[in-house]
Amino acid sequence: MHGAALAALGIEGGYELLPTPADGLAARMEEVRSGYHGVNVTVPHKRAVMEYLDELDNKAAMIGAVNTVVNRGGRLTGYNTDAPGFYWALGNAGLTPGEALVLGAGGAARAIVYELVNRGWLVAVYNRTASKAQELVEQLGGWLVVGNKIEKVIKKTPLLINATSVGLGDPDVSPLPEGVLPESGAVVDIVYEPRKTKLLRDAEAAGLQTVGGLEMLLGQGVLAFELWTGGPAPVEVMRRALEEVE
Ligand code: NAP
Repeated sequence: MHGAALAALGIEGGYELLPTPADGLAARMEEVRSGYHGVNVTVPHKRAVMEYLDELDNKAAMIGAVNTVVNRGGRLTGYNTDAPGFYWALGNAGLTPGEALVLGAGGAARAIVYELVNRGWLVAVYNRTASKAQELVEQLGGWLVVGNKIEKVIKKTPLLINATSVGLGDPDVSPLPEGVLPESGAVVDIVYEPRKTKLLRDAEAAGLQTVGGLEMLLGQGVLAFELWTGGPAPVEVMRRALEEVE
């Protein structure tokens, strides 16, 4: 997606994977400081990277995770584009503030809950490990759903967001209990591998609106590209490049 965007705009450069073990993060960030305009940071470094940065954007600080670093003359600033990237995808799908249920309390769920709460949504949060969801809502807002209330909340909430890793790499599992789906509205699955998760297929079959994880991936990429280049990203070029990947 980024390679295609650079090529389309005639910007010299590339986007490559820099495999980085946990004990190599400090050295890697020094390398970034001296040789890169910016990088994305992914699992498991999104929190740990913060200590090697000179500045932290407010949103990244609140969420507690950085996925994009910009190098301005040797000063590294950390941003979180997962959160606004997710919201960009919601906006493209025509979804406007109301009630939402977020499943999960990991890094992605934190970004999503932060963004939704700050955009005026009423957000319920459910996680397998309730203590993590509790900590999340205490820090970022929303309210906790526990135990046997979850099926009722799933049925009645018009926007359901899967921000767990359930479904990742397995087309046959869903984060929802068998036979339980929202009665109306939309389902967003941020898992993008496979493209059509079981959750999305079930939701589609029930006549619900669906948004797949590729849209959030595109959104965070578009916003990262704009931070690095200071100009508008070629969104459709980036979308096509993503869709072409098997
Ligand atoms: P993470 O920090 O590891 O969090 C994983 C979450 O999934 C936790 O809430 C965990 O619950 C839950 N979970 C894992 N296995 C579960 C199971 N078997 N049953 C119920 N809950 C389970 O991961 P993350 O960074 O938030 O990422 C989550 C997913 O989002 C991944 O699939 C990732 O690929 C995807 N993602 C997509 C985008 C995008 O652009 N589309 C961006 C970021 C992430 P516990 O707390 O109980 O362990």
